[in-house]
Amino acid sequence: MHDYSAEQEKNMIERRAELVKALDKALEIFCSHEKKTFEETMAYGLRPIADASGVTRIIIFRHIEINGEKCFRQLYRWDKIEGGLTDKSPVFFPVNQITTEWLNILLENICVNQQLSGKSKDDKTFADMFGKKSVFIVPVFSYSALWGGVAYLDNRSDRLFDEDCMGFMRSAARLCANAVIHNEMEREIAEESEIARTVMESSPVSYILFDKDLQAIDCNNIAHQVFNCSDKQYLLHNFWKNFSPVYQPDGRKSFEKAHSMKDDAFTKRKIVFDWVHKTFDDEVLPVENTLTAIVNNNEKYLICYMYDLRSIKQMEENIRWLETEAEKVYYDALTCIYNRRYFDENLSRILKLLSRTESTISLMMIDIDFFKKYNDTYGHSEGDVCLKAVANTLSKTLTRGDDFVARYGGEEFAVVLPNTDEAGARFLAGKLLENIQNCKILHENSDIADHVTISIGITTGKTDYTRNPDDYIKRADEMLYASKQNGRNRYTFGAM
Ligand code: GH3
Ligand code: MG
Ligand code: MG
Repeated sequence: MHDYSAEQEKNMIERRAELVKALDKALEIFCSHEKKTFEETMAYGLRPIADASGVTRIIIFRHIEINGEKCFRQLYRWDKIEGGLTDKSPVFFPVNQITTEWLNILLENICVNQQLSGKSKDDKTFADMFGKKSVFIVPVFSYSALWGGVAYLDNRSDRLFDEDCMGFMRSAARLCANAVIHNEMEREIAEESEIARTVMESSPVSYILFDKDLQAIDCNNIAHQVFNCSDKQYLLHNFWKNFSPVYQPDGRKSFEKAHSMKDDAFTKRKIVFDWVHKTFDDEVLPVENTLTAIVNNNEKYLICYMYDLRSIKQMEENIRWLETEAEKVYYDALTCIYNRRYFDENLSRILKLLSRTESTISLMMIDIDFFKKYNDTYGHSEGDVCLKAVANTLSKTLTRGDDFVARYGGEEFAVVLPNTDEAGARFLAGKLLENIQNCKILHENSDIADHVTISIGITTGKTDYTRNPDDYIKRADEMLYASKQNGRNRYTFGAM
């Protein structure tokens, strides 16, 4: 212990009060966030610290590693002569004997308190570059590693700092460093949330964030579009009330089901399920939801990505429509049986196929008897009804999968019977005549009966490459003509 005179004692008390006041002032500045930018706060807050400690320069630096090499990087430099916070660009102090020596001291969590004038020439060059005579460096640790520190430099006197001043500088250093660390963290959080927002907004699907009670708390712009609701707060506040129907398609109440989905998501972390929402204007909105549970600051949240299924449903509908449109190409609009196009394309295909094995085919040409008179008697539209009835009966009589009947034109039909011989064709023709007669479609002006009848021409032949569809059609037509000539309501057979 030193013995101090009353005068010295008084000076010391005043000095301590001055230091405490300066620390208070700096603390107030760093905590108030009065200044617009962090740099401004720093410049403003370092002044009372420099003044009270009587230094001319304060450097806040990080201890970092570049390419495996440890070094110091200047973050902020406050200089009394240069007038406040000056060099903002990062400065890396060279690793030399003097900085290595300092680093070893700082790593021990001990302050450096040195006079630079006694250093070697090289070190003095460095000290000159540093531009100072005395240095006091406070190490700052974060997560038990050397984060960096605060260097106090004095270019006026070659002095060692006294105990009170050192205590003050240690406290002030930690105050400044904490402010920097806090600012870095805030900036990181801001950057992270900026990234998160960009990720959310650039998502092509709707995004809704729910709290642990399923209250919607955030959404992206796509959600506005999908729900057709531009008012974000309205969408979020009324999400369960106005944007889901009371019941889901499985009969469960939307709200109850949503809660059980929520529990499921918290258990399994991530679930995918279909849901039906409704838009602001009550349009049904089927979606596929991916619900992911997250924990942030000890609070549980659910992220919900909603894939709008309307586009898929629309696409499916379009495909179905296209399919039916494509099918229509092969169907006759009036009778709903195959049309001439189908007959032409299929007959030549079947003939080619059968000719590989020289299989037999039978073909029938069918014509309604006295149909002109039918039209004349009952009118054209009744004629249409009759055509439909005949087509229906013909097609019902064909039971084998490979057989088919097509409307050949007007009141003429063609029946194709692959792998069917003469006997089979004759049998079927008999059935057709019988079934049409049994329909008993009244035809008062028919010359041969009081109901509608048909005439049939049949041909059967072995398929081979020399015969084309027209050969069969021509032969069957000849037989049809024969049936007409011989009194109608009959079939005539002629081999190919
Ligand atoms: P035949 O016993 O000799 O076959 O006598 P037909 O009167 O049936 O002979 P023709 O072939 O001359 O007459 C066919 C009639 O069928 C003429 C035409 O007006 C009618 N027809 C053709 N297509 C349709 C149709 O789509 N609807 C209706 N209602 N009639 C049709
Ligand atoms: Mg005809
Ligand atoms: Mg006819």
